[in-house]
Amino acid sequence: MPIKRIEKTAMSHRNAEVRAHDFLEVNDGYDMARASFEAERCLRCQDPVCVDGCPVRIPIPEFIHAIAAGDMPEAASILRGANPLPAICGRVCPQETQCEELCHLSTRFTPAGIGHLERFVADWERAQAAEEGIRQPWREEKIAIIGSGPAGLVCAGQLVDMGYPVTIYEALHAPGGVLRYGIPEFRLPNSVLDWEIDILRQRGVEIVTNVIVGKTIALDDLLGNMGFAAVFVGTGAGLPKFLGIPGENLNGVFSANEFLTRINLMRAYDFPTADTPMKIGKRVAVIGAGNTAMDTVRSAVRLGAEKGLIVYRRSEAEMTARIEEHQHAIEEGIEFHWLTNPIEVLGNEEGWVTGLRCQVMELGEPDESGRARPIPVKGEEVVIPVDDVVLSIGTTPNPLLLQSTAGLETDRWGCLVADEESGRTTRARIYAGGDVVTGAATVILAAGAGKNAAEAIHHDLSA
Ligand code: FAD
Ligand code: SF4
Repeated sequence: MPIKRIEKTAMSHRNAEVRAHDFLEVNDGYDMARASFEAERCLRCQDPVCVDGCPVRIPIPEFIHAIAAGDMPEAASILRGANPLPAICGRVCPQETQCEELCHLSTRFTPAGIGHLERFVADWERAQAAEEGIRQPWREEKIAIIGSGPAGLVCAGQLVDMGYPVTIYEALHAPGGVLRYGIPEFRLPNSVLDWEIDILRQRGVEIVTNVIVGKTIALDDLLGNMGFAAVFVGTGAGLPKFLGIPGENLNGVFSANEFLTRINLMRAYDFPTADTPMKIGKRVAVIGAGNTAMDTVRSAVRLGAEKGLIVYRRSEAEMTARIEEHQHAIEEGIEFHWLTNPIEVLGNEEGWVTGLRCQVMELGEPDESGRARPIPVKGEEVVIPVDDVVLSIGTTPNPLLLQSTAGLETDRWGCLVADEESGRTTRARIYAGGDVVTGAATVILAAGAGKNAAEAIHHDLSA
């Protein structure tokens, strides 16, 4: 076994001062030389624990070995066989807490750059892609998928590969779910998402947009007069939570979902080419410290805010954003107010936001989430002058579909109850997975749930 180089090969990215003023992608990706160099670091372990950390169980050493051997078609084929969205996952998955966290190399050195290599292979495949004709299904039973986020897309991809005719119904005018309306261009360009979706279309997936199941059509119509044999619910968790503090209805207060949807789906990032501008104040505070909060504050700066601020009631150690997103936000000049809990949005006589009144916090014993509980420091408050406030404190599933369909059980958080391994719900022929079941989580967990449900649907229809 050759001696392995110690550090993970870095991926170059664009200069922070330049990129903070546009929506072009931040990371450049590996070139062939860097990818080969990094692939050589993998030990090809007898017990590849990295695979245990991957919710879709990509055969990681195998695809990395194919890169090292210079066999890119084989690397692409191995990767796509396990994960229908590799160009997306290579960009947005939190590898540092999944496959890379378990990698044997990380006990002494830094882990293999699994995510960077996944992105490299998918981008190579994209550069080769040739148009193919649309493949026809060979099974009779029609399957309906509700929602075109990663859970729905992956479930659809698996099912068409098994020969089923699959139709996705999507409420919005463009498919992709959070990948389209939430994650900004500078992290996940729409061209990459469009390419992954086009591959699914070529494999036979039909996508019907502007259909709200539960309103435009009923879920029971799908199983009844529309003749579908099974339905997968992948409707996500798009309903924003609010703080319930005074001033939350002032002009200039947004939910992160609305803010990002205006920028991404409605293309304010592309103004004036797209006819949908977004007015931004000079100082924009984002409440929260997850991936959504980082995307929001970095988008605000790109749209012209002079200062973007993160306001979070816990400390940096409890932040849930990916390390890379936090690091990029620091480089782009984002200001962080840790242990700061908003208790009132302040406004002027015209009803516009002027500031945030906040309680200073300190850390106490761990709470039920295992993270240190933030406790108010008595008598200590601060006022932060701001023009806009964006709430990024979590989301829950939209109850519309769940409440309009009899027999679907939900839990106390409003999530649809479904078996973790199979996605089977409390009603026969209805399966579910992704954020609608788990609450807001990750792309790869949603993808894994879609994959599991596809296998269960196939199993049940074949019985
Ligand atoms: P969604 O992606 O929410 O898709 C659900 C789809 O269903 C939507 O298109 C919706 O319009 C549609 N729908 C809803 N109701 C209906 C209905 N009644 N009829 C028809 N269609 C309906 N995860 C990561 O792993 N890494 C990241 O870096 C990351 N960054 C994120 C950044 C942001 C801004 C956000 C909001 C989330 C981020 N996440 C990230 C989380 C990740 O995107 C989600 O966990 C994932 O998209 C969930 O997938 P899903 O398919 O369950 O749902
Ligand atoms: Fe390679 Fe790390 Fe997986 Fe071992 S654990 S096979 S070194 S990626």
